[in-house]
Amino acid sequence: MKRRDFLTTSALAIGVVGISGCYKEDKSYKDVNINRGKVVKLKLATSWPAHFPIMGTGVDNFAKSCGELSGGSLEIKVYPKNILVPALQVFDTASASQIDAFHSGVYYWKGKNSAFSIFGGMPLGLTSEEMITWLKFGGGIELWRELYGKFNLYPLIGGSTGPQMGGWFKKEIKSVSDLKGLKMRIPGLGGEVMKKLGVNPILLPAGEIFTSLERGTIDATEWVGPALDKMMGFDKAAKYYYKGWHEPGSILEITFNKNRWEKLSKEHQAIITTASEAMTANMVEEFRYKNAKALQELSNHIEIKTFPKDMMIEAKKALDEVLEDEAKKNIDFKRVLDNYNQFVKLNTPWNNISTKHILDIRG
Ligand code: CA
Repeated sequence: MKRRDFLTTSALAIGVVGISGCYKEDKSYKDVNINRGKVVKLKLATSWPAHFPIMGTGVDNFAKSCGELSGGSLEIKVYPKNILVPALQVFDTASASQIDAFHSGVYYWKGKNSAFSIFGGMPLGLTSEEMITWLKFGGGIELWRELYGKFNLYPLIGGSTGPQMGGWFKKEIKSVSDLKGLKMRIPGLGGEVMKKLGVNPILLPAGEIFTSLERGTIDATEWVGPALDKMMGFDKAAKYYYKGWHEPGSILEITFNKNRWEKLSKEHQAIITTASEAMTANMVEEFRYKNAKALQELSNHIEIKTFPKDMMIEAKKALDEVLEDEAKKNIDFKRVLDNYNQFVKLNTPWNNISTKHILDIRG
């Protein structure tokens, strides 16, 4: 036995020397890959412009990681929005097997099935870290995969934005009545809640938001957080920047055509899954750092505001109504909401005595 162990160890040692020798040459890692000679090429379309900060660069790095981790046997080519597919047609195009995968935001597809909006995040609900925990450990992703399966799609978590801000307002909101008749760019469940509070929610393409706000065609807009909002120049068009409530932890997706996913080798599936998890963690961290930096720069010339208490009380009531109505109309929505609420119930007592407690006392 001892001799055999010695021989195995020696062989491994020689192997390692051999492999590390190969790494001196550019791209020679291809020579040691078990998929040698069989390169799998995948087309991935996104809903973002090319190399869009944090979200777009996140998926660029994901594709690069898949190439490196697979020793070059997995080539994922990223197509920014409107190059291969229009931004909001990536879901249908992947479902129809015309592209292999896409990177986008889950709430865009609530027209397909309102239940999908819950996988994208909940107003006044879970933070990014909690959403990811629900999806991975609380049964969320199993439901997501079941419901996307009906569209021949297989979703993976593709990052998260961290807490988003409540938006930019040209006038101060002192009570819920100040919202009446206000035109605001706000999509998703947050938009539906705002509608119940008297807001006129407007859907605008990203490229038109700044001009509309500057000219007063709209009175307010939400976008993401300090880093990306500053890039859009919203601080030059509105003075009041409100703290968030409607997107506490929005989830992005890397979704594959299901047939294509199932035909991938186990090795490639593992590489993609691992790279998507690294991307998700990196994105949350990058958002945190860049939002903190941008806030520091913005805080000299804008006012950070908290929405009035009466508005948040009304928003909670309106949200309950929206969720209840949707659960009555759509059994899938009810199933996902029940599963989500089960996790909230489990998570809250622990969160309150751990993270929340520490944040409250540390100042
Ligand atoms: Ca947003």
